[in-house]
Amino acid sequence: MEAVAARKYTGPFTQQEPIPDAAVAALQSGRLHRYNLIGEEAGEVAQLEAEYRDWQGSSYCLAVTSSGQALQIALRAYGVSAGDTVLTNGSTLAPVHAAIKAAGGKAILVGIDVNLRLDLDDLAAKIARFGARFLLLSHVRGHLCDMERLMQICDATEVTVIEDCARTLGARWDGKRSGNFGKVACFSTQTYKHMNSGEGGFLTTDDPELVARATILSGSYMLYARHGAGPAEDAFDDARYDMPNCSARMDALRAAILRPQLAGLEQNIIRWNARDTVVEKALQRQRQIVTITLPAREVHVGSSIQFRLPDFTAAQCRALLAVALARGVALKWFGAAQPLGFTSSHHSWRYTAPQNLPATDRILATLFDMRLPLSFSEADCAQIGALICDAVREVTP
Ligand SMILES: *Cc1c(COP(=O)(O)O)cnc(C)c1O
Repeated sequence: MEAVAARKYTGPFTQQEPIPDAAVAALQSGRLHRYNLIGEEAGEVAQLEAEYRDWQGSSYCLAVTSSGQALQIALRAYGVSAGDTVLTNGSTLAPVHAAIKAAGGKAILVGIDVNLRLDLDDLAAKIARFGARFLLLSHVRGHLCDMERLMQICDATEVTVIEDCARTLGARWDGKRSGNFGKVACFSTQTYKHMNSGEGGFLTTDDPELVARATILSGSYMLYARHGAGPAEDAFDDARYDMPNCSARMDALRAAILRPQLAGLEQNIIRWNARDTVVEKALQRQRQIVTITLPAREVHVGSSIQFRLPDFTAAQCRALLAVALARGVALKWFGAAQPLGFTSSHHSWRYTAPQNLPATDRILATLFDMRLPLSFSEADCAQIGALICDAVREVTP
C-alpha cells in the first residue's frame, strides 16, 4: 500500500531564487551598453566573458542576447548557407530549428532513444545518406549521448559539431565539460536554465577565426578589442569586413546579474541534483512510471526531470495532466497534437520539412517533463513526486 501524499502542492513551479544585489551598481552607473566604458575599465560583460571562459575551460567566450542567437551566429560563422543540410535532434526546442532556418540551412532530424539521447546509428546513417557536413547537437533536457562515440562518428566523416548546451551548462561526460567536444558550443542564461539573467547566452570555442566572425556577427561594430575573452586582433582581418552586424550583444546589467551566479554555480548543481534524486526516487516507487536512465559517465544537472508512461494511451496522458494540475503539479506532455506553451514538436514547425520519425514519435507520445526550480525544497520535491504517483494511480483503470 503506497503512502498517499498530502493532497495538493501549493507552491509555484516558475518561481526562481532572488538575484544577488551586485547588479544594483551596474544599474546606478547608467552605463548599460557593453561598450559604454570609461577609460580602460573592462566592463561587466568583458569580465563575465573572461570568467565564463575560465570556468568552461575553452579558449574564447562571447556573451550574447540568447542561446537561440548564439546558435544562429555559430551556424552563420561556420558558413552554413542556403540549402546546406544541418542534422539535429528529432526532439528539441523551436529556437534550434529557427536558428537553422535563419541561417538558410535545411534541418534533417535524427531520432532519439528511450533515454532521450541521440540515436547514434541513425546519426551515422543520415550523415551517409545526406552527405551532411554539420550537426547541431542539442543536449535536450540536459541529456548527453555517448560523446566519445558521437565524436568518433563525426570526426571520421568530417562533420562539424555545434553543441547546443542550453540545458547542459555545467554537465560533464567522462569528466569533460559539455560544450568542449564540438567545434563551438552555445549556452543559455534564460530564466529557466542554469543561470538567470532573464535572457542571455554564451558562445564558446577554441577557434580564433570562428570567434572573430561570431563577435562581428554579434554586433561588436569595430570595438571587438574591448572583449574579455576574444582572439588576437589579426583574427579579425577578414571578419570585420565580411560579417554582418546582427545586434545580439549582451548588456552590462545582465552581465552584472550573471557574474555572482557563476561563482555559485557548482553549489547550485549539487542542489539541483539533490532535488532531482528525491523526485526520481519517489517516481520509481510507481510501477507504471519509467524514469530516464542517467549513464555513469555523465554528470547531469537536474534542473528538470522527465519520465515516461509507456503503457498509457493519449487519453490517459491528457487525464494525467489535468489530475496532476488539480494537485498543484505542473507537468508538460510531449504527445499533444497541438503545440502548447514552451512545448512543441517537429510536427508543429512548418518551416522544417515534414519528416518521418516513428520511433521518436512513439517515445514522445508518453513522455512527460517537469521543472525543478531551486525554489523547491527537498521536502517539496518529495511531496511533488508522491503527488505524481497518486495522479498516475488515479488515472490508471
Ligand atoms: C532553452 C533552450 C534553447 C534556447 O535558449 P534561449 O536562450 O531561450 O534562446 C535552445 N536549446 C535548448 C535545448 C533549450 O533548452
